[in-house]
Amino acid sequence: MKYDFVVIGAGVSGLSTAIILAQNGYHVALVEKAKKPAPLIRGFTRKGVYFDSGFHYTGSLGDGEILDALFQYLGLSDRLEKVPFDPDGFDLIRCQEEGFELRFPYGYERIRERLLEAFPLESSAINEYLQTVKDTFNSFPYLNLNPDFLDSGAPKGLHGPSLKDFLDRLTTNAALKWVLSVHCLLHGVPPEEVPLAFHACIAGSYYESVHGIKGGGRSLTKAYESQLEKLDVDVYCGQGVSEIIFSPDTSPAGIRLQDGKTLNCRGCISTVHPIELLNLVPTSAFRPAFRKRLFQLEETISAYILYIASRAVPEMLIRNNLVMTSDWNLTGLWENNPLNSRPLYVCGSLPEDSKVTKSGLIGIVPASRNDTEPWSQSISGKRPLEYYQFKEKIAFKLRQHMERSIPELAGNIEHAECATSLTLRDFTHNPFGSMYGVKHKIGQYNPLPLTKAKNLYLAGQAIVAPGIMGAIISAFLVCGFIIGHKQLLKQIQKYR
Ligand SMILES: Cc1cc2nc3c(=O)[nH]c(=O)nc-3n(C[C@H](O)[C@H](O)[C@H](O)COP(=O)(O)OP(=O)(O)OC[C@H]3O[C@@H](n4cnc5c(N)ncnc54)[C@H](O)[C@@H]3O)c2cc1C
Repeated sequence: MKYDFVVIGAGVSGLSTAIILAQNGYHVALVEKAKKPAPLIRGFTRKGVYFDSGFHYTGSLGDGEILDALFQYLGLSDRLEKVPFDPDGFDLIRCQEEGFELRFPYGYERIRERLLEAFPLESSAINEYLQTVKDTFNSFPYLNLNPDFLDSGAPKGLHGPSLKDFLDRLTTNAALKWVLSVHCLLHGVPPEEVPLAFHACIAGSYYESVHGIKGGGRSLTKAYESQLEKLDVDVYCGQGVSEIIFSPDTSPAGIRLQDGKTLNCRGCISTVHPIELLNLVPTSAFRPAFRKRLFQLEETISAYILYIASRAVPEMLIRNNLVMTSDWNLTGLWENNPLNSRPLYVCGSLPEDSKVTKSGLIGIVPASRNDTEPWSQSISGKRPLEYYQFKEKIAFKLRQHMERSIPELAGNIEHAECATSLTLRDFTHNPFGSMYGVKHKIGQYNPLPLTKAKNLYLAGQAIVAPGIMGAIISAFLVCGFIIGHKQLLKQIQKYR
């Protein structure tokens, strides 16, 4: 049997790509290395408590907004129950040493009012910032569904100015600059490195609206799985792709799985990490300069993550998260601070069954993957004792960090699990165990959907942006090159 396309990797971008292509009449196979699709977002259960893993909340899922339209196009919406976060404060942002706290609302007008209350003398900076974010967000293809944007060339501003340079021009107020930069933690690139335009695409979506999904990443994964089944996409799990086989005309003719089995096709879409892609293709598939560029891509931070089963969800974490830093400084290497002064993000899981008696809470701090380097050759479940001792110490410190920040947690914790960069690496098959794959930063040229090899395309968080929305947009972008952008945009417009 010959497929039109094999999609490599069943994360959000691969799942979405497979659906879009199948909906447009292509015969598609989807191949995932993990035992089940979407290892990054499907969450897990420990001692009866569900924990979300790579999906807690997203922007732009409000009725009529862009992600809502894309979910409808993908056939996911009827299977999902959206849970709006608190419009008056979806993130409680706190700067510990400065004693500063602000409930960050969503909706541009609410944000403007809240910021003006906190910074009454900064109206011109606040207005210019919000207008710039809004305009920039609306000027990107597939965030804006107007096909004419495609004719105006590559999106502008992806190589500068940086968010920091832009804010430095607007104001000298350190607190305001911190408030407008703290959501850099959602993509792992600090304000001096991230292009303002990229920040606008990510933060801008959360400024529109913020939602979770009942049942979290597990429900989202189930919705994808049902839709793939309905569309007759063949899903192969538990065997990674070990090789993309090329025909003499340098287009993919098939893929080989790790067990040697082959699937024939006339095109491939890879959604795996760019370094993993290099392992799958012959050296001759790409020019040496392109290979070098992929090898040199800088990675986002990794993390320590504590999953806590709690008897009660503190009031401040109901439809709301805590985002905390120790001071105004968001520059550079957060992961080298002592653990108790690193930025902390705490959120709750949204279980499917609302009558559950225990809830899953998640605390995340940035971490360097160098910390776990001594055990990098070990295999999950069979690591040396020293690693587990190291992990216990991290879990203890992170729990203390969380309890100090949310005193209501103390005495309510039943059990906890800890993840390090090795956990992220081995469960999600991201070669470096980073939070968000490669950085999107000024001066770094990430790969694009089209490659030199005919009918070999790229999608995923490295191509467009991290996050559910970035991964889904990358799927639409790559399929636009196959189906025709104008035709695809016209199809999506029906849902807006
Ligand atoms: C702790 C954490 C919390 C997060 N929270 C949020 C959040 O609240 N909201 C949000 O929007 N985003 C969040 N994100 C980011 C978001 O989860 C990701 O950006 C997004 O899921 C990436 O999707 P993807 O398809 O690009 O990549 P992936 O999900 O990494 O997909 C790539 C797939 O390829 C597979 N693979 C690798 N090699 C091979 C091979 N050789 N053959 C076959 N398959 C292979 C992998 O197993 C993987 O499933 C979070 C991320 C992390 C780590």
